[in-house]
Amino acid sequence: MSARILVVDDQAANVRLLEARLQAEYFDVCTAADGFEAIEVARTEQPDLILLDVMMPGMDGYETCSRLKADRNTRHIPVVMVTALDQREDRIRGLEAGADEFLTKPIDDVALFARVRSLLRLKSVLDELRYRESNAALAGVDTEPAGEESEAAGAVIVSADPRAAGRYAGALPSRVTARGVSDPAEAMVAVQDGTDLLIVDLTSPDYDGLRLCARVRSDAATRQLPILAVVNPDDVSQAVRALDLGVNDIIHRPVDAGELSARARTQLRRKHYADRLRDQLDQSLEMAVTDPLTGLHNRRYISSRLRQALASANNGGAPVSVMIADIDHFKSINDLYGHEAGDVVLQGFAGRMQSALRALDLAARYGGEEFLVVMPGAGMAEARIAAERLRSAVAEEPFVLEDGTDIAVTVSVGLAQASFGETFEALLRRADAALYTAKNEGRNQVQAADAAAA
Ligand code: GH3
Ligand code: MG
Ligand code: MG
Repeated sequence: MSARILVVDDQAANVRLLEARLQAEYFDVCTAADGFEAIEVARTEQPDLILLDVMMPGMDGYETCSRLKADRNTRHIPVVMVTALDQREDRIRGLEAGADEFLTKPIDDVALFARVRSLLRLKSVLDELRYRESNAALAGVDTEPAGEESEAAGAVIVSADPRAAGRYAGALPSRVTARGVSDPAEAMVAVQDGTDLLIVDLTSPDYDGLRLCARVRSDAATRQLPILAVVNPDDVSQAVRALDLGVNDIIHRPVDAGELSARARTQLRRKHYADRLRDQLDQSLEMAVTDPLTGLHNRRYISSRLRQALASANNGGAPVSVMIADIDHFKSINDLYGHEAGDVVLQGFAGRMQSALRALDLAARYGGEEFLVVMPGAGMAEARIAAERLRSAVAEEPFVLEDGTDIAVTVSVGLAQASFGETFEALLRRADAALYTAKNEGRNQVQAADAAAA
């Protein structure tokens, strides 16, 4: 599928020109003649990139860009501002409005397509994260942006010239702690911990800066690290190669402090956004495997882990035993003390269960008041010891509600050790039968299933 680009310009001739050049590269193009229309089209068409003219009557490009970046429906779309003049103030103003990049009219094709490719790569990463974010939002995870401008950040600056490195460091926002290094080997070590931004001086003949950029991009630990490259303004081919290698942004020598600061802030803002989305993804993945009431694993997760454990046991691995623990007369706890009290007991029970188990045992809430424990490497003797430890930990001390009410609880446990080739279903049926025996024999006890018939 080809990328969709929105071209915004009040001059119809400019729109047609850019449209033709982009279409020749097989991009899908939509257009808008002013800022208001641009916002409307961006919301409805969801382009992958916006080329935005700065000088427009009514609402200018800066204002349009600010509004696009303030709207959660459009803030993820990269914006390239197209300016008539290559003025430092204009660029800084644009970066402050949230623009991702600048191009100066007349637009040079090589620079245009390198920027477009680089921003489209960035967007595809953000799109993936946003898709996951929407799933996380459905799962009830908080997805509101956190304050980013005040958060401490770390930068590594690579330059053979320590004075240049010092100047760059001085230009960064005050919340950024910068560290200067003079060669790529040192840089690879420095970026390993707590780095949010890498600035590489590509103008030095003393080392191969592009190779460093490529390494940082390909190393799993630093793949997400934003890279800002310093290049000579006349070296367009180096800038294009850098962007194609995955460098996030380019700044020209001599480096303007205000522009470096603004570009650094853009990179840090994006990284912060992507990091936050990734954290939410981890959280939603955790929710997919965890029972929210007790924090134990959920039924789906434990089932897949048990299948794995059985497969490895059948492959000549260690034995596996399972425990099904069911709270006795739980319904009457609910009836006597209320459903909330029942929940407190379930949580307390889960805590005692975890203390009674070994670190490698996997405990899950399998149903309402029924728990399944998978014990990798445990034979029946060890399983019995753990089950007995659980049974007495529950029975010996009542559970205490917030208001001080004591609730006496007992649990019945059924155990089964997997026999060779036994299926998941057959193993659980045997453990369940043992549990049934424990209930019938008077509850508050552990029963083990006989070895499975061969
Ligand atoms: P037995 O000793 O035979 O296991 O009796 P029991 O009362 O524990 O078993 P039964 O299966 O008859 O009842 C289980 C009760 O657990 C019924 C249900 O309302 C309650 N329950 C299930 N899930 C929850 C929950 O999340 N919170 C609370 N408070 N109660 C729950
Ligand atoms: Mg029960
Ligand atoms: Mg039950």
